[in-house]
Amino acid sequence: MSIKENINSVKQKIEQAALAVNRDPHEISIVAVSKNITPETIQEAAEAGIKIIGENRVQELLNKYDNIQNNLSWHMIGYLQTNKVKYIIDKVELIHSLDRISLAKEINKRAGRMGRKVQALVQVNVSREESKSGIFAEELPSFIDEMSNYPNIEIKGLMTIGPNTEDADVIRACFRGLKLLYDELKNKGIDYIDMKYLSMGMSNDYEIAIQEGSNMVRIGRAIFDY
Ligand SMILES: *Cc1c(COP(=O)(O)O)cnc(C)c1O
Repeated sequence: MSIKENINSVKQKIEQAALAVNRDPHEISIVAVSKNITPETIQEAAEAGIKIIGENRVQELLNKYDNIQNNLSWHMIGYLQTNKVKYIIDKVELIHSLDRISLAKEINKRAGRMGRKVQALVQVNVSREESKSGIFAEELPSFIDEMSNYPNIEIKGLMTIGPNTEDADVIRACFRGLKLLYDELKNKGIDYIDMKYLSMGMSNDYEIAIQEGSNMVRIGRAIFDY
């Protein structure tokens, strides 16, 4: 299938998953994750309607950013080394992987130097798999408290990566857990955060994620066939 056909198929499945739980499919954004994908192919995805590109490596983001003329929005979705923040801070619209205070400190500092605020999601390791980054659910309240010290970061929501399993019930429980944390924070009405994005769901689990409330799915393989 072509990239365009892949994208249409993903959109159709998003629509079905959303409608099945009485949600408006239009409230769900697609982040196309382009690991090792060439600028030409990204261009093709853009022409087929993709508006947001997700990158998990700084160097790759920089290479592509300079080679793609399209009006795309760039999201950093992978582990972000503190010493690399300075290279991407003026290029990304949203960082999905804020997972530690030292990173918040650096983002806040660099954003301040630019005279701008930077939007970020807090990455939560709901599944508690050792291989995953992200703070644990029980650390979230104090982490959010701390964020009041970093006024150049706008916390816009939460992100998680689903557990590494085929068991749909386990995956669903993970996403449900993040949605609960998201709603709790939203209901607290904390003035310096704005719970707007719930980033969860990848190629093999985005339909479950949408049924559980995701409004931002990060899709690589199902679009680019890698
Ligand atoms: C690679 C990656 C994705 C996309 O994964 P696919 O299975 O290819 O859809 C999403 N989120 C993160 C953080 C990733 O690293």
